[in-house]
Amino acid sequence: MKSKRKGDIMYIPYGRQSIDDADIEAVVKVLKSDYLTTGPAVEAFEKKVADYVGAKYAVAVSNGTAALHVACLAAGIGEGDEVITTPITFAASANCVLYCGGTPVFADIDPDTYNISPEELEKKITSRTKAIIPVHYTGQPCDMDAILEIAHKHDLLVVEDGAHALGAVYKGKKIGSIADMTCFSFHPVKPVTTGEGGMIVTDNEELYRRLVLYRSHGITRDKDMMQQYEEQLQQSSDPALQEAADMLRGDVIDPGGWYYQQLELGYNYRITDISCALGASQMDKLDRFLERRRQIAKKYDEAFADIPQIKTPWQQEGCQSGWHLYMIQTMERSRREVFDGLRQAGIGVNVHYIPVYRHPYYQRNGYAGVHCLNAEAFYERAISLPIFPGLTGQQQDYVIEHVIKECTAIRS
Ligand SMILES: *Cc1c(COP(=O)(O)O)cnc(C)c1O
Repeated sequence: MKSKRKGDIMYIPYGRQSIDDADIEAVVKVLKSDYLTTGPAVEAFEKKVADYVGAKYAVAVSNGTAALHVACLAAGIGEGDEVITTPITFAASANCVLYCGGTPVFADIDPDTYNISPEELEKKITSRTKAIIPVHYTGQPCDMDAILEIAHKHDLLVVEDGAHALGAVYKGKKIGSIADMTCFSFHPVKPVTTGEGGMIVTDNEELYRRLVLYRSHGITRDKDMMQQYEEQLQQSSDPALQEAADMLRGDVIDPGGWYYQQLELGYNYRITDISCALGASQMDKLDRFLERRRQIAKKYDEAFADIPQIKTPWQQEGCQSGWHLYMIQTMERSRREVFDGLRQAGIGVNVHYIPVYRHPYYQRNGYAGVHCLNAEAFYERAISLPIFPGLTGQQQDYVIEHVIKECTAIRS
């Protein structure tokens, strides 16, 4: 039944991309050009996003998870370091810490905002805490004033997971212009898409150089960076490393045209010019996409306002959500019944997210017994409704009608 409906035009997904002719032309132009990767379209896309969010530097990578990974590497996260994040997120927000040998620590959410609670966050800080990864869940900005205050007090880096929040505004500032680093994803359901893609933005030049390094194998041709590392070797008390510094010095002072160095263990997380051409073209439509998402959210809010069986999302004053997701909680009928009923009606509702620590991998690796009670209570009732720029008024009416019907039905 479900799979039959999926190919059917009646199936309404929770999110999907909007691609127009300008996007297609932009991609075709790159396909006919000299560079398919590491060419001018990458830099043009980086500049477009950096300018849009108000950041100095941007580094485009192959996906949002890679963005989080290189951000953690640039932040120096390693063995023994703890990084605090929310359990109500996609697993990548915590996996990136594990990739670096660090330990994710989960702080419970605020039951109103569904974002990480600053009070709970502060309780989780230990002498090993190195960074915080706040996630602007659904596109609704976290309480960044409180989070930054805690970070300053305890000397922690703040790496925002902004996968839902490109274009979201916190007290007059775009997400991407606030913390040490912000990561974005360009998966097809996200605010703009490159197919697969991600980006890190920052104002910090040192972090920027490290992000670029880790994106491509840890390799550089930057003379300053090579010299800096050579000096580190020189200062070592190990005679073998001092000898290594002597050996490298000639190439570092006057590198030949072929010369480069691998300074760290990096990855191939590069993104193609093909993807970035699509991304740059999509950026031209971001404000329109956001406006349409806001309209859809407002219509849901109004339709459900007088229905006590449906809890609608809270909105922070002075902020603008990116409305990546529209989450309701079903307050009376079980989530399972409502979910199955809506899927039966061809509505691609979803649940974002299973608390990360509840996954078997986490349970097997030290998180058995971890409980965030607000996160678990939210997870029990949460359903994400369709919200994306191409959702038609007629489709939304259909969704509203069925959501009300399912949520208010007498318990079976
Ligand atoms: C989508 C997403 C990611 C990962 O991005 P990918 O591009 O799919 O790798 C990370 N965090 C959150 C909150 C996301 O929604």
